[in-house]
Amino acid sequence: MQVENSLSQDYVGRFAPSPTGPLHFGSLIAAIGSYLEAKRHQGEWLLRIEDLDPPRTVPGASDQILHTLEQHQLHWDRTILYQSQQNKHYQQAIDQLQKEDAIFGCRCSRSQLKAAAIYPGECHNLALSLEHHAIRLRGDDTIIHFEDQWQGPQQWQLRDEIGDFIIQRADRLFSYQLAVVIDDQQQGVTHVIRGSDLLDSTPKQIFLQQQLGYRTPHYGHLPIATTAEGQKLSKQNLAAPLNPENATDNLAAALQFLGHAPPPIDHLEALWEWAYIHWNPQQVPQQKSIPVE
Ligand code: GLU
Repeated sequence: MQVENSLSQDYVGRFAPSPTGPLHFGSLIAAIGSYLEAKRHQGEWLLRIEDLDPPRTVPGASDQILHTLEQHQLHWDRTILYQSQQNKHYQQAIDQLQKEDAIFGCRCSRSQLKAAAIYPGECHNLALSLEHHAIRLRGDDTIIHFEDQWQGPQQWQLRDEIGDFIIQRADRLFSYQLAVVIDDQQQGVTHVIRGSDLLDSTPKQIFLQQQLGYRTPHYGHLPIATTAEGQKLSKQNLAAPLNPENATDNLAAALQFLGHAPPPIDHLEALWEWAYIHWNPQQVPQQKSIPVE
């Protein structure tokens, strides 16, 4: 007989880096925030490598990310899920949405749509083939509500503020929104903790969950680290890769960023012990971003 650990079933968190380069301080904040929340609930913390977009995937970056996480003693549960191996599941979801007439083909180019903040519905009723065009999810006048753990109550008008968004591109790449929704469902994720730069993806993901008949997880969007000018730390603005030799300092800096004041501790394991005891999500600043330079 299989004995289920009911505690760990109650909370399943995850960290989902894209292997477009090495982890930097900004990514470590999402990793540590999601990890400590999972530990606080005696839950599981899963790792998903979002290698959905082959041209953007940097060879060797996945392994480097795994190594950096291990050196920071961020240990994941279960086996790693790679999005590049999920195409069959993404296609099944598209087939389901097609049966429900929830999607349509769109031939508009990016330059044609440049001026429009919201997709104006050009191809709505053209019945273009799904095989040879980008695929959009049909929006309606749903209002999406959710309570964010740090950013508070959120409300979005689907038609006016989001529109019919793309779930598969004309070059056949599945969209990030589609992949995340299917993977979170498949992995049984109950709590999505990530950076606030993804806050406006959340209503799209919730609408997709509703269209596919999935449950909606809880969401918490942490403040993101920015440059002094307010730009998100990223590979594009040359955020320094994390140096695993400074893992203890990196953890201390991330805890400070997340509103905690760890005492000077030289050993990574001891600092993690401190973090397990003192982590309190209510101390995390309820801000979208904080400059770190
Ligand atoms: N792969 C995304 C990123 O690295 C994160 C996706 C998510 O957490 O939902 O920004």
